[in-house]
Amino acid sequence: MRSQVRALSPRPGIIFGDANRLTLTPLDTHDVRLRQACAQLTRPQLRQRAQQLEIDALLDYVYGVNRKDLSDFSRHDQKPKTVGLSAPQVGIMKQITIVDLSIGRRGYHDIHVLLNPRLTWSSQTVVGRIEGCVNFETVWGETRRSRSIRIAALDRSGNEIEMKLSGWPATLMQHEIDHLHGHLFIDRLIDPRRAHLVTDSDFGDYRKAKSNEWEKVIDVSDQVVATKVPAP
Ligand SMILES: [Zn+2]
Repeated sequence: MRSQVRALSPRPGIIFGDANRLTLTPLDTHDVRLRQACAQLTRPQLRQRAQQLEIDALLDYVYGVNRKDLSDFSRHDQKPKTVGLSAPQVGIMKQITIVDLSIGRRGYHDIHVLLNPRLTWSSQTVVGRIEGCVNFETVWGETRRSRSIRIAALDRSGNEIEMKLSGWPATLMQHEIDHLHGHLFIDRLIDPRRAHLVTDSDFGDYRKAKSNEWEKVIDVSDQVVATKVPAP
């Protein structure tokens, strides 16, 4: 069978070949393992828009409700459970992240669902900030990250977008993109042997304390994995 392949907007200088010469390799319909795997899925499952469901699941984790219309967020007065969540944090192994870029300002109204976000540039200038993570209940600490970044991503409609971020939004975005690459904030701590141990009852005091004066510490150096900032 001949496949019908249409080259989308070929750029000058790139050879796509003759689409009419491409052929599909038929699947081995007698392969037992493949047939068993396929048989487990119901017709409704096969028709699900899997990615949309995963995004809704993430929004549910952050807001406690399914909110399909992002414009609702501007009227949303319930405090989100986190300012950022990446799919791998809840066991969804996809390159999806949700961030609220109003971090550091009042309100919760600048929500972005980003697919395949990646750094395209990061400043040499770094900034130290206190970070925590929902995957670490009691560990906080000071990290160093680029002060400004640029990223490229797809929005949830599949449109290519770019962003330039500085300050807290840049820190948050680097934290979340790290999750998509298996890196954790403890890998970025200035001193992982003296991470801050902060229980729920300590948190009020911790917010007021100077980070270098916090005396309850925990050594997480044995959990640290050497990282490199993903190359732009
Ligand atoms: Zn995190």
